[in-house]
Amino acid sequence: MSLSRLELDGLGSPADIAARIHELEPGLPPQFGLEDLCRKLDIEAITEVATNGYEAALLMHPDKAFGSIVVAKGRSLQRRRFSIGHELGHFLIPTHMPRPGEPFECSLTDLQMVDTREKDRRRRIEAEANRFAAALLMPPRTVRRSIVYLKPDLAEVLRLAREFGVSKEAMARTYVEIQHVPIAVLVLQQGRLARVYRHPDMPWIEKRIGDMAPSDSIAKGPMLKPGELSDIDDCDPGTWFDDRGAARTEQLTEQCLGQANGFAMLLLHAKLVDG
Ligand SMILES: [Zn+2]
Repeated sequence: MSLSRLELDGLGSPADIAARIHELEPGLPPQFGLEDLCRKLDIEAITEVATNGYEAALLMHPDKAFGSIVVAKGRSLQRRRFSIGHELGHFLIPTHMPRPGEPFECSLTDLQMVDTREKDRRRRIEAEANRFAAALLMPPRTVRRSIVYLKPDLAEVLRLAREFGVSKEAMARTYVEIQHVPIAVLVLQQGRLARVYRHPDMPWIEKRIGDMAPSDSIAKGPMLKPGELSDIDDCDPGTWFDDRGAARTEQLTEQCLGQANGFAMLLLHAKLVDG
């Protein structure tokens, strides 16, 4: 069997479609040729335009016979790769049909949506396209096999991001999902919580988006330079969890990565009393 859209017939879930593509193209290296793959799936062209209007767009025939992808010029290779994966997702997921006069033009915010249970249709399909892109570019099984550290570590997230040609944050999302231990990755902007990716076994994090990091968090310590990684340090579970979560937690550690433009990434790893 060779890769063609016929072989994807009947599949609806973003993760299933991505997994099937990898089944049909076994042994793809971590940074496989995404544009070649797109061509085999009826994407006729991938072009770049100078625009601030969107990050990426999909143009297609109403019957989805063929499509073409447009990406904003001047983006990093990692971002370009994820954008192309996202638009390919809109093309392949059967329920993603553009409304008349509303082409798929996707913004940076669209490319960060993660909740596939969203009630709002537009937000939900963006999250689904992201789920597809993630599963295509970072197949969970392959990423899991590539893990070499014994404990969760942002150094490994950085290494995997380079290996798979994706951004640190995209890899961090996948890294959280494939863990067998409760962790969370928090993205902070100027010390405020911007995004949270939490493993389902991780106790609930009390802080909300927009809140400042707690004063006794490592994130409030000396500012790290972009790319600088802190040690993994113990932290009082009450720093991030409510009383119930803290009572369930035997040990909590924090590790911080400095990033450009006032951003930082924080890894929390909990060892649970019953875990
Ligand atoms: Zn989109």
